Amino acid sequence: MLKRSININIYHYTYLITNLSPTTTERFYIGVRKAKTYPTSDTYMGSSEYLNKAIQDQGIVHFKKEIIEIWISSALANAHEEWIHGYLNVADNPDYYNKRNANAGFYTNKYSTAKQVHTIHSAEWKETIGKKQRMRQVNTVNTDEWINTKGKEKSEKIKKTVSASEWKETVGKIRINKQLTIFRNSEWKETVGLEKKQKEMRTKSDPEWQHTIGASLKIKMSENHLSEEYKLRIGNAAIARQKETKKSTNYKIKNSRTCEYCHKTMDKGNYNRWHGKNCRNMNIK
Ligand SMILES: [Zn+2]
Repeated sequence: MLKRSININIYHYTYLITNLSPTTTERFYIGVRKAKTYPTSDTYMGSSEYLNKAIQDQGIVHFKKEIIEIWISSALANAHEEWIHGYLNVADNPDYYNKRNANAGFYTNKYSTAKQVHTIHSAEWKETIGKKQRMRQVNTVNTDEWINTKGKEKSEKIKKTVSASEWKETVGKIRINKQLTIFRNSEWKETVGLEKKQKEMRTKSDPEWQHTIGASLKIKMSENHLSEEYKLRIGNAAIARQKETKKSTNYKIKNSRTCEYCHKTMDKGNYNRWHGKNCRNMNIK
């Protein structure tokens, strides 16, 4: 049966922003977003003034946006963000532009389970414990005292700078990929995520779904990638990044080939086209 509860015009997703050339210890931002465009085409970066200032100062090409996960409801997307914020304690973590943990406190000390997530989205929970918890969080995180102590502490940590190239070659390389792996394979995902995913899969394998929602999603995705806005922001940034990558020594080393016949060294494309078994010096050797 067709699931009419899925609104195909709205996408809920969690995402990671990485500053590829950080000038301070701050280099990541974890966010959640409800968008009308397909997530990979959504140009929204975040609400953080710190992040936006960095983007303004350095330029959008230095920032990479990766979709962590697309969810079928905002409740799940928000819960996933909360989990990640708590897991990393982004409010106190000098690596993050985030200055608050979403729903701080609840996810900080424990992994949530499927049951917990269901509980916290129940109306009863929201009215009782949820209300109390939220008040406590709001009171803790938004007080002048918090800002002057924890908030200041974080600002101090941020002042310690690591040169961008040094960071990229060492910690950054490992960290960026490792992070995404953790978020995508968390214990939380194994419980709620799995259940939801299975439900989604069941929906998507339904032929009726494939011919209706599935088909329109596909059209929408390709339309988004062709849109002018996409080309101007995300598209151009991606092209600029690719150009940067191709200029790097690492890339050149990885993609160079030495012809076994004429002994010239060149890029892969040139090698495949004109050298190796196509080399005109093949018979001279
Ligand atoms: Zn050759």
